[in-house]
Amino acid sequence: MGAIELKAVEKWFGDVQVIKGVDLSIQDGEFVIFVGPSGCGKSTLLRMIAGLEETSRGQVMIDGRDATAEPPSKRGLAMVFQSYALYPHMSVAENMGFSLKTAGASKAEQAEKVAEAARALRLEDYMDRRPKDLSGGQRQRVAIGRSIVRDPTAFLFDEPLSNLDASLRVEMRYEIAKLHQQLASTMVYVTHDQVEAMTLADRIVVLSAGIIEQVGAPKTLYERPDNLFVAQFIGSPK
Ligand code: ADP
Ligand code: MG
Repeated sequence: MGAIELKAVEKWFGDVQVIKGVDLSIQDGEFVIFVGPSGCGKSTLLRMIAGLEETSRGQVMIDGRDATAEPPSKRGLAMVFQSYALYPHMSVAENMGFSLKTAGASKAEQAEKVAEAARALRLEDYMDRRPKDLSGGQRQRVAIGRSIVRDPTAFLFDEPLSNLDASLRVEMRYEIAKLHQQLASTMVYVTHDQVEAMTLADRIVVLSAGIIEQVGAPKTLYERPDNLFVAQFIGSPK
């Protein structure tokens, strides 16, 4: 399960409104990408889904329950940030199992979940290495692995590839697409990169200044943008 619904969600910072009434239904297993110019509210919206930011108005529903007041730890979601800090003194396996260990999982359960995540991310050959002996792409896979072991109902990514160089970005885009296929879990992903959005998303949500301009499949947005803003942002021939 991993359905997420936003109902008339608003966010105010003081008397500045940055999210202006967002309604959105994300299906279980869907890959949804938020795009829009810098400052339009992508991260704020994602952080409200995660529970890292309170909603000023409206509701966040997860699998049909009202999660608006739930702390992040109760929501069962995994948040993957662009800056990932691995524990330098721990091996890959220890990094991936750490949150299970602190949650009190048995040794056997830790080992099983870590092995499963390692398979999904093709990290089996690196389990004894320290982070400093990994490539950038491998490190990022370990960071994702740390959240997979908790069996999250959905993954939330905030510009996970923006700090990477171009070739690594292509590699990781492929990894994330593959992971989505394998796990079939809901992914909500923020980017300002049109190529990422067009290649990864089932549906793209185009935001501008705290409102949704259009939601649709990449092809639909490209071929039938609702307005000039969407056309320009997606790069349609208009
Ligand atoms: P994006 O991720 O699309 O670049 P953000 O969601 O980070 O945009 O920010 C949306 C708007 O909210 C911006 O104008 C930003 O300056 C403002 N904002 C974000 N976080 C805070 C905060 N903690 N306090 C005040 N304003 C904020
Ligand atoms: Mg942001």
